[in-house]
Amino acid sequence: MSTRASDLLTLTREGLYCPLGDFHVDPTWPVKRALITHGHADHARAGHIQVMATPETLRIMAVRYGEDFCTTSQEAALGEAIRIGDVTVRFVPAGHVLGSAQIVIEREGVRVVVSGDYKRAPDPTCLPFEVVPCDVFITEATFGLPVFTHPDTRGEVRKLLDSQRLFPERTHIVGAYALGKAQRVMALLREEGWDGPIHLHGAMEKLTELYKREGIPLGETRKVVAAERKDLAGAIVICPPSSIQDLWSRKFPDPVTCFASGWMRVRARARQKGVELPLVISDHADWPDLCRTIRETGAGEVWVTHGQEDALVHWCGTEGIRAKPLHLLGYGDDGEAEPAPAEEAA
Ligand SMILES: [Zn+2]
Ligand SMILES: [Zn+2]
Repeated sequence: MSTRASDLLTLTREGLYCPLGDFHVDPTWPVKRALITHGHADHARAGHIQVMATPETLRIMAVRYGEDFCTTSQEAALGEAIRIGDVTVRFVPAGHVLGSAQIVIEREGVRVVVSGDYKRAPDPTCLPFEVVPCDVFITEATFGLPVFTHPDTRGEVRKLLDSQRLFPERTHIVGAYALGKAQRVMALLREEGWDGPIHLHGAMEKLTELYKREGIPLGETRKVVAAERKDLAGAIVICPPSSIQDLWSRKFPDPVTCFASGWMRVRARARQKGVELPLVISDHADWPDLCRTIRETGAGEVWVTHGQEDALVHWCGTEGIRAKPLHLLGYGDDGEAEPAPAEEAA
């Protein structure tokens, strides 16, 4: 009997499941064997028995959940073909955050790619997305509407630096998610020539240290708790998005509140969050890149996991590609799932 795509991947209560390999991908409930695309909390959960992921993702999970986040873990080197049951799997860069990978599942020439979250825009903190030709492509659709086109990140970071030069006495507080976005903003600031210290909220420290240990150059970072009030005039501070509005931010002299997110394209969201300087910096593909990626994979069938699924499914139809929305529960904007409140309080 020849292999069908449904033997390679199907949907169960716990999430995406490979029957021939007997494993789940990014399950939202504890399972026997989980393959994890990346360290965001909506994809990487604690409590599985066996976990396979890239070495970076395993280390991110250990930092977030403790060393005992699973019973046994197995590193998957990028590009390495690994046999699991009756299938072969391979982890390929997804360009989303440090360690993020697409998971390629194949047997007898039939190939399914679970892309996790991904982007095509350059990111100095992780390897770029690689297109893998496949039969079935599993995609997210966080920004799956034609209105979402992300600008060049360099221009967004320059807006921040221009504002800092214009208001040298004010503290610029930048809301950014603790895994990936915060470190990307730091690396982009360095690329655009900011060589002063970058101050960090406590919730950013552990993952930023991990990025540095992994060899990502982020320059000098300082704990904001250790800083004198006078040293924070003109400083750039990175904190969790929720902190830009709360009491925490009030200790800074006349702050300029900024938020680095793809959602900052939506003016109303920026206003509603009280953001003075919105920075459109996204770790997810925008609409043109979602469409381009689907085309480039040559997939005849597309499954859309989460986000704005309907528009992307409709677009696939106009391209003659079979597509279905999965409406996966438990996935979402990475920010909604992280950081955990306890972590934020740190
Ligand atoms: Zn993610
Ligand atoms: Zn996600």
